[in-house]
Amino acid sequence: MIVAFDADDTLWHNEDQFDSTHRAFEALLAPWASADAVDARLYETEMRNLARYGYGAKSFMLSMTETAIDLSDGEISGADIGRIIELGHAILDRPIELLDDVVDVLDRIAHHTLMLITKGDLYAQHARIAESGLADRFWRIEVVGEKDVATYARVLDLHRVPIHEFVMVGNSLRSDVLPVIELGGRAVHVPYHVTWTHEAHHNDHGHDVPVLDGLRDLPDLIEEWT
Ligand SMILES: [Mg+2]
Repeated sequence: MIVAFDADDTLWHNEDQFDSTHRAFEALLAPWASADAVDARLYETEMRNLARYGYGAKSFMLSMTETAIDLSDGEISGADIGRIIELGHAILDRPIELLDDVVDVLDRIAHHTLMLITKGDLYAQHARIAESGLADRFWRIEVVGEKDVATYARVLDLHRVPIHEFVMVGNSLRSDVLPVIELGGRAVHVPYHVTWTHEAHHNDHGHDVPVLDGLRDLPDLIEEWT
């Protein structure tokens, strides 16, 4: 069996820091807008910029900057823009913190062929994968711009992976679960305690997808499926 893992919020913590960065950004723009208005405008800006910048912390910094200029009508100071850059740097410079049981779980299923498929900024994601110390455990590592049906089809074809032997494990229904099911593969949903709005609107999908409380339950499920 070929078991592929998502990375952010599946193997290591990520979204919790984006979440705390939102709170800091709301505080920065409090003189001009309510927290809800800041979040709504930032999300709009991120969605508009997705096709320009793709995912990741650098895109997030640019969208925060644009939102700050818009909401303050250009009054935001250079010092405050500097603070936004610092918030982005803190995300990029964050040391990798693996989620519970990751190493143990990868050990227990090491007799299967393991892949890593993550989306986001190519340079930043490769740096995080290297820092994680997990790279050697994966047969193939793919950093992709988007995780949709076309991307999975391309990646599986590239590495000659038969879809009926493929299992994708991740925290996002939108990116890790639904496209793989649509292709005829299997997927396991392991929710993270924070979900970005963009990844969150997909709960009524009508598919029978196993949902695990944590990765520790994965090896038993994989053995059941083998
Ligand atoms: Mg993820």
